[in-house]
Amino acid sequence: MKEGEIVKCKTLNRQLRNPPGLLLALAFLIFPATAHAQLYDHTAKTDFDIITTADPSAFLCLEYYGLGRKEMPDLKRRNSLFKSDVFVFTAYYSDGTSIEVVVNPEFKNVDAARTEALRYTNRLGQLPTILRKGVSRMIVHGTGYSGFVGGDGAMILYSDYATKKIAHNHLEESLFHESIHAAFQKEQSGPGWAAAQEADGAFLTRYGKDKPASEDLAETALFAYSILHHPGRIPVADEEKIKATIPNRIEYVRNLLPPDQPIFFSVKEAYQCDGSAKVSLSNPSLPDDSGQLPTDNRTSSDPDSPVYQWFDSDIMSNVLLHIYDRDEDKVSSFLMSWKNIDYTGPELIKATATEFGLDKAALKTEIEKWRGSDF
Ligand SMILES: [Zn+2]
Repeated sequence: MKEGEIVKCKTLNRQLRNPPGLLLALAFLIFPATAHAQLYDHTAKTDFDIITTADPSAFLCLEYYGLGRKEMPDLKRRNSLFKSDVFVFTAYYSDGTSIEVVVNPEFKNVDAARTEALRYTNRLGQLPTILRKGVSRMIVHGTGYSGFVGGDGAMILYSDYATKKIAHNHLEESLFHESIHAAFQKEQSGPGWAAAQEADGAFLTRYGKDKPASEDLAETALFAYSILHHPGRIPVADEEKIKATIPNRIEYVRNLLPPDQPIFFSVKEAYQCDGSAKVSLSNPSLPDDSGQLPTDNRTSSDPDSPVYQWFDSDIMSNVLLHIYDRDEDKVSSFLMSWKNIDYTGPELIKATATEFGLDKAALKTEIEKWRGSDF
């Protein structure tokens, strides 16, 4: 997350595989309700079957390693980042990529956890290698949040939401979107993408327009991938409109996902699925057994750490903009003033109600509704 921007789809900075003691990056999906002049509101709301269930998958096997203690960020239950007794798997792919899969203990037994994990692993195998190799961890929860999260090498998935996506034949496309967050979040906020946006002068989706530095690439790349790699899967009339609207961004995606190269390529020798691989059942340098975040990750001095703060301020931003129709600049500057301090949800609600002249109880109700919004 860039310093100084209000990000409603949350992306905090953290390399899950990397040095211990840092916090997870989250990017979460909040979908404002209003529509504007873009061709589409949100890729999640389109029904183009861009990645079909019959598409080839590089998935080889899912191996179970036992119960472990892992980071399990959860947008609904934010008090404890680390969880014990989580089911730890690794999914292996024929291109040499692998993804650690940690499943919430709420699945109760390994068979249920494995069944759940297998809903995603073949679909993750359908992603181009360049995306899959950017996903090092997948965190699977049961219930609790209507949306997925992607960012900095990880995805956070919710089973009940996935069930809805499968019912709409759209889980593959959602995983593609999240994998862009996981693998290419930096591209998204980089100068190349910004230049392509400017050259195009228009946005494909309302969601991308609302969050040009955090969501536009994830939104656009799926459509561009379809046009570049699977022409015809989006109806011709839509394809033509998309090409005319975002030619520069399609070219940008062409460089990320070249259509003249195979989507799968070997990054190393594939695992033999013979039980020989060894993995860690815990994150490095875990905090103590209290399950609480290390205190130094919650101080105001670390701009990348306030998981707890952004959760509420992101929702607050959406509610102020889209429910109460407040001025975007005022909302941004107000929420920015909260960026580097520790606060609780109730403190933010109280201060926001005062600042914008809102009824506190009504504001709280809107926040809860937003939090449970279902797309
Ligand atoms: Zn997103």
